[in-house]
Amino acid sequence: MIVDLRSDTVTKPTPQMLDAMFSANVGDDVYEEDESVNALERKAAAMFGMDDALFCPSGTMTNQIAIKCHTAPMDEVICDESSHIYRYETGGIAFNSGASVKLLYGDRGRLTAEMIEKVINPDDVCMPHSKLIVLENTCNRGGGSYYDLDEIESIYHLARLKNCNLHLDGARLFNALVETGDSMERYGHFFDTISICLSKGLGAPVGSVLLGDIKTIRQARRIRKVFGGGMRQAGFLAAAGSYALDHHIDRLKTDHLHARLLGETLEKLSYADKVLPVDTNIVIVKLQDDVNADVYVERMRDNGILCSRFGEQLVRFVTHLDITPEMIDHTITVCKKLH
Ligand SMILES: *Cc1c(COP(=O)(O)O)cnc(C)c1O
Repeated sequence: MIVDLRSDTVTKPTPQMLDAMFSANVGDDVYEEDESVNALERKAAAMFGMDDALFCPSGTMTNQIAIKCHTAPMDEVICDESSHIYRYETGGIAFNSGASVKLLYGDRGRLTAEMIEKVINPDDVCMPHSKLIVLENTCNRGGGSYYDLDEIESIYHLARLKNCNLHLDGARLFNALVETGDSMERYGHFFDTISICLSKGLGAPVGSVLLGDIKTIRQARRIRKVFGGGMRQAGFLAAAGSYALDHHIDRLKTDHLHARLLGETLEKLSYADKVLPVDTNIVIVKLQDDVNADVYVERMRDNGILCSRFGEQLVRFVTHLDITPEMIDHTITVCKKLH
């Protein structure tokens, strides 16, 4: 048995999802004539009470388009040091938007209005213009931590007061929502744009959606084209996304249960120094100093368990749609065996 816990991006479409894909009505989406893409965009926007949406090939693209929509060169983006937009988008903020970045060090990736307020620049020709605040929810490097919506509301009021735009990298937003039960409309109200990944825990093969108002999404559509992301009969992929929104949200709770079981096991093992609190579907374990993380990942692989080295002494496990209870039991057995 191979248990792939490297990422929740590794899922394959279920037979039902494949049926939905093969029976999709498609057209040319650059002409905005693909019914399945249009339906996905309408559905996602409506869920969050937002005006419009744009289907894109990746979450990197939806984030980068949003940053470009909200900033001009010489502006500054405020985000956490561990955030995907800063760490894992190949320096795209500078490359695509010519903007600088102000890094904050939040609590497991989470920022507060108080922290942000301190770094918003005054109107001074020597300083970049603080223009965009980006939050990530859930926070990947925070071990799947999620925000309290009251804090987001405070950040929203600060952003309005300071004339900053507010973008949410919600690659795993639904993992937060199934835990908190927070209202999607309130999220839609607080953020100027929201990026949602369909290809993570939701289990679609490809795609992300950017949500925003009509004007922003109109501009986002132009930017998607110049980034080379205008797709043609993309409805086959969008149909998988719509299927995922209809059928794969509630079941994320199962992934969270699996992650918690794994976290509870690792916590008790002598080679683990500590395990970050397991809030959603990500388990990050810090190994004892005398355990080599590369060797640990290799030994796990030799036992059929795939996980990722995630920095100095850190290893990450991510649960998802294709992980069964039997696979979690097997993983727990292997973890205990490796002493
Ligand atoms: C995966 C991910 C993205 C987008 O990744 P793509 O691989 O480009 O789809 C964005 N933000 C976070 C937090 C992610 O985990």
